[in-house]
Parts: sequence; C-alpha cells; structure tokens
Amino acid sequence: MSERKYNVGILGATGMVGQRFALLLENHPWFTVTALAASARSAGKTYGEAVAGRWFMPGPVPEKLKDLPVYDAVADMEKVVGLVDFVFCAVDLPKAEVLALEEAYAKAECPVMSNNSAARALGDVPMIVPEINWEHAAVIETQRKRLGTRRGFIAVKSNCSIQSYVPALHPLMDLGVERVLACTYQAISGAGKTFETWPDMVDNVIPFIGGEEEKSEKEPMKIWGAVENGLIVNAKTPDITTQCIRVPVSDGHMAAVFAKLDKFPGTEEIIERWKAFVGKAQELRLPSAPKQFIHYFEEDNRPQTKTERMLENGMAVSVGRLREDSQYTIKFISLSHNTLRGAAGGGVLMAELLAEMGYIK
Ligand code: NAP
Repeated sequence: MSERKYNVGILGATGMVGQRFALLLENHPWFTVTALAASARSAGKTYGEAVAGRWFMPGPVPEKLKDLPVYDAVADMEKVVGLVDFVFCAVDLPKAEVLALEEAYAKAECPVMSNNSAARALGDVPMIVPEINWEHAAVIETQRKRLGTRRGFIAVKSNCSIQSYVPALHPLMDLGVERVLACTYQAISGAGKTFETWPDMVDNVIPFIGGEEEKSEKEPMKIWGAVENGLIVNAKTPDITTQCIRVPVSDGHMAAVFAKLDKFPGTEEIIERWKAFVGKAQELRLPSAPKQFIHYFEEDNRPQTKTERMLENGMAVSVGRLREDSQYTIKFISLSHNTLRGAAGGGVLMAELLAEMGYIK
C-alpha cells in the first residue's frame, strides 16, 4: 500500500459530481484537497460562498474546504497545478473544450482523473473500472509519448449508465456473452439536478437522455477491450442495445438486463460467480473499494433504489431477479449509485489504483 500522501485538486468542484468529490475526499487516508476550481462565475469566491444555496450533498460542506479559494479552472491552471499532485475533473463544458482543458493539465505534468466523456474514445486513454480492466493502465505510457509528458496523463471513468450492468456481466464473459439488451432507469442527479432544480421530474418519466444510449452501447466494448501495441483495441462482442430513461429518483441508476450466453451453467452457478467475484480493487484493498463488489439479493422485490444504492458507501453493485429468459438466456436487474460508484467514487477508486500501481508518483 502507498504510504505517500497526495495533494489533489477538484476541477468542477461546485457541480454535482464535484461536490461528491469534496465530500468523499474530506477524510480520505491518501488524498488531501488543496485546490478547488470551477468556472469564472465561481472564481474568487471561497468554496463556501460558491456553493451557497446549491449544496446538494447529504452532509454539510466540508469544514476544511469552506474557506479555500475557488480558482478558474482554465485561467488559473498554473496556480492549480502548483498546488496539487493530480486533479479530479468533472466540468460541464463542450467536449472540445473539456479535452483541451484536460490535455493542458496533463501537459503541465498534472495527471487528470476525469469524469467527463471527452477523452473516453481515445485508444491511449484508459477507461478504468478497477475491478475489471486495471491492466489497461499500461496504455498511459503510449499517451505520455503522444503528449510529450513525463508524469502527466488522462485517465477516465466510464459513463454512469453502464456501472450497474457491466460489472454484473463481467464474471460471465467466459460463458460467451453474445448479445445484451439493457434498459436503464436513471436518476436525476445524473443530469446534475435535484427535484428542486428540476421540478418537471416530479411524477414524471422522460424517455430520452441525450447521447446516453450511444455511450451505454460503446463504452463497455472499450472496458472489455485488450491492450495491443500500447493501445486499447475495443472488444467485438457482445452486441449491446440499450434504452436509457430518466425516472423520478434522486440518486441511483437501475438496469433491466437480458443476455444471450453461449453456455448456460444454470442460475445457481451464475449467482455463485457474482458472489465469488473479486477484482484488483479488492485484492489491493484500496481504501474506497467495496469488500464485496457484487451483492446478490434473493428477494423478488430487490434491489430497490432507496434501500440498496448506498450499499458499501455507494460503491457496491446490487443485483437481483436472475431468471432464465425465453428469448435471451438470462435476465436480471442491477443497480448502482450514479454519483458514487458511477462518478466521483469510481474516480477516487481509479486514482487509488493508479497511485498503488505507481502511475501517479
Ligand atoms: P454540474 O453540476 O452542472 O457542474 C458543472 C461544473 O462545471 C461546475 O463546477 C461548473 O462551475 C463547472 N464549469 C462550468 N463551466 C465551466 C468553465 N467554463 N470552466 C470551468 N468550469 C466550468 O455537472 P455534473 O453533473 O457535476 O457533471 C460534470 C461532468 O461529469 C459532466 O461532464 C458530466 O457528464 C459528468 N458526469 C456526471 C455524472 C452524474 O451522475 N452527475 C456522472 C458521470 C459523469 P460553476 O459552478 O462555476 O458554473
């Protein structure tokens, strides 16, 4: 385990995901927040002032952060880089501007743990779920050559929509997962909103989330891809089709999943595989890793969003209702917390992994 402490920054610290980072890092054993940044609208205020009237988290604004100044993530980059060993990034900007911002930090030798989608498709940018594809970190060396850096690089978190069904399918991959159909029921915090800021979502369902279905179908192929000649080559199977729906839930994305398998060992063995699954995050005992990554619930009416989303500090994945299917082989329900496992928590866990593997020195 790493003994060194790291100073870290949060870009987009005032937003929904940024606030989660602030709360998660409040008492983190390795990472201390020493710089906060957002847009020019927040720059110059203290963090307490910048989030006043729009603090959405269950706990109060961290005492240690309240009086820290908020910097402009773009204009004050040099100052931020001077204060930190690496940054977490969750900014709401057009894709090209996000990529330019993240590459600028990386080129300034400041590693970037990104929650944004801008760099996700690049073959030399690892998209890491520490339990699944930790070995993709190897492509960082290729990326450093492209960027001309010694230390700086970008690593990304996947989209929050896939965090419930990709972990559940992963321990079944050697059974030959041919086709997957997944419908996701996604919380409003995934859009950076609450019921106060998005009253139209009370008593409502919206059958469209811009760009989400494309990400939900493509990103798993990168996670299940292989490293070849220093780049990630996407997997060719399974064939995935999705529908992503916004539902009136504050936090927690649920997925209804159907999967066609080449070999079907029976539902009991599948449940056993889920219960027995241990990833790199558990092996390394990373501070934010859930002890049990996948929890299976036998009750017909679980997992439920309210009771299961905070399992293992919102870092575990809950699965239930596994049954044989008449058109596919199996079907099941899975659930994960979208701003914890699906965003900030997953970003912190990825940073712990990369620190432990020696990529962040
Ligand atoms: P959000 O609540 O709207 O927050 C956006 C953040 O970006 C704020 O801190 C904002 O600062 C900052 N920002 C806006 N314009 C900026 C600029 N020109 N320069 C620097 N900072 C700027 O959004 P969010 O929900 O936290 O999402 C942030 C990112 O994470 C998005 O790319 C989103 O797709 C991704 N993500 C979100 C989730 C989720 O569940 N919410 C999950 C995975 C990934 P000000 O307060 O100063 O405007």
